[in-house]
Amino acid sequence: MSNARHYIITVDGPSGSGKSTVCRRVAARLGIGYIDTGAMYRCVAWATLQQGIDLDDRKGLSRLLDEIDIRFQAAGTENLVLCNGSDVTRAIRTPEIDRLASAVSAIDIVRQALLPLQRAAARNNSAIIDGRDAGTVIFPEADLKIFLTADLEVRARRRLQDQKDQDGIDLESVMEAIRKRDRDDSSRAHAPLKKAADAITIDTSKLSIDEVCERIINLVHTRILNQHD
Ligand code: C5P
Repeated sequence: MSNARHYIITVDGPSGSGKSTVCRRVAARLGIGYIDTGAMYRCVAWATLQQGIDLDDRKGLSRLLDEIDIRFQAAGTENLVLCNGSDVTRAIRTPEIDRLASAVSAIDIVRQALLPLQRAAARNNSAIIDGRDAGTVIFPEADLKIFLTADLEVRARRRLQDQKDQDGIDLESVMEAIRKRDRDDSSRAHAPLKKAADAITIDTSKLSIDEVCERIINLVHTRILNQHD
């Protein structure tokens, strides 16, 4: 297999459809980069809390965006997320940040500030990009576009599993929170969650993570790596 060609795979879909786990594994299997764009919105949300900036304060937000420093660092099988020098890997995975990230991601200046960072992250290396608008806005020319979906309850159970060490969360409340995030992410004016016309849908409700990864890797082989241009 040759990785000499630079290629981009986008993976979009709603919360809990399995995007991040699948992307991390596919990236490791193919030896390409993994760009978690959701983590970038989560970092902005975390920074607004840290600095006490109200989401209506466009001046404050704009200063925060000018200064924000987001880095990803591989640490064994884990991907550390560093924001303004702090390790926020765990801190950005709370229900509070889930809600706040969704709210900040609807703000135009936030999306405008993150877009060049997201594109730059894949400039030099092949990469798989996990997001909501990766195939529609960030990389409309991607070589392969995947749209992952799963039933609401399946997605809520996965999220519950991820956040099992946190107090006060149960299936019903997680389902309600995901329903709201789906609604907000799909209906916002700027870069809403939407399947690209040329994306391939994979419903992960009844598939294991390995099966989903296998399907994507097969598609990468047939549609990208075995093509002669
Ligand atoms: O994927 P994740 O749940 O970590 O994303 C957090 C939030 O960031 C989502 O609810 C969504 O509102 C927002 N997001 C986005 N565009 C992306 C990635 C994430 O609006 N490309």
